[in-house]
Amino acid sequence: MSAVRVPNLALNDGNSIPQLGFGVYKIPEAETADAVLTALEAGYRHIDTASFYENERGVGEGVRRSGLPRDDVFVTTKVWWTDNGYDSTMRSFDASVDRLGFDIVDLFLIHWPAPQHDRYVESWHALERVRDDGRARSIGVANFHTHHLDRLASESGTVPAVNQVELHPWLPQHEVRDYDREHGIVTEAWSPLARGRILGNEPLAALAVKHGVTPAQIVIRWQLELGNVVIPKSVSPERIRQNLDVFGFELDTADHAVIAGLETGERTGRDPDDLG
Ligand code: NDP
Repeated sequence: MSAVRVPNLALNDGNSIPQLGFGVYKIPEAETADAVLTALEAGYRHIDTASFYENERGVGEGVRRSGLPRDDVFVTTKVWWTDNGYDSTMRSFDASVDRLGFDIVDLFLIHWPAPQHDRYVESWHALERVRDDGRARSIGVANFHTHHLDRLASESGTVPAVNQVELHPWLPQHEVRDYDREHGIVTEAWSPLARGRILGNEPLAALAVKHGVTPAQIVIRWQLELGNVVIPKSVSPERIRQNLDVFGFELDTADHAVIAGLETGERTGRDPDDLG
């Protein structure tokens, strides 16, 4: 297997996370094991799934087929917002590890705060429990605005290790990133390529020509240089490999200014305050 040297970022609980991982949202279960195996053979050591993606079995199978020791692959899964609440989160976690075929996961996340449903603090206490029981090495959240993080801070003693949010050139998430940095939370970018919408963008295409890479590689490199964890998804073996091949060039200040100029605040997904 190839030995691509993806940096690890330190988490606030003493663990670490590979900064570049492989996302599997929308990969059908039957294709997931092959995609995960391709990613692991290319050198990825971090896979991001969720109960909602209905492909955890494929993730577990891909990891086992790779022959890699379980401890060499960082695997994240998540509890879906309709399961927010203490007991339902515990049941969701049990079902996820059962489908994955693992004893533990590396990172377990609350997928959405779903504030109208208002059970994410209870979920957080369940995550603390699975962490204390040694069944999740690290725990964190996804799609949390700063006011959701403030509420967790006031009602629990655990700061999330990670906050996974939609983040791409249109939506660089200054406020969340600043908050995360100040509180020792690693920011992880979902839909880092804005679900492929970056592809037709002329300034990004020009930067790609300048560096002799693709627009996707420009945006993944930008994410890494911002200090984010980044988890691009692809079903194409060639693009899976391409998305990992981002350690042979660097962006300069002018390049960062070009990408900063693309900010519109546009989301590809829901605003977390509006879901649930
Ligand atoms: P991405 O921003 O990763 O974009 C994926 C799209 O870009 C696919 O259509 C893919 O097509 C295409 N693509 C990938 N690489 C390239 C490339 N090099 N050149 C051209 N096109 C490319 O979107 P996702 O929404 O999948 O986000 C990534 C991951 O983030 C998810 O898989 C999931 O793990 C996580 N996520 C988390 C969420 C949350 O709420 N916490 C929400 C959404 C995602 P193709 O497959 O054909 O290559």
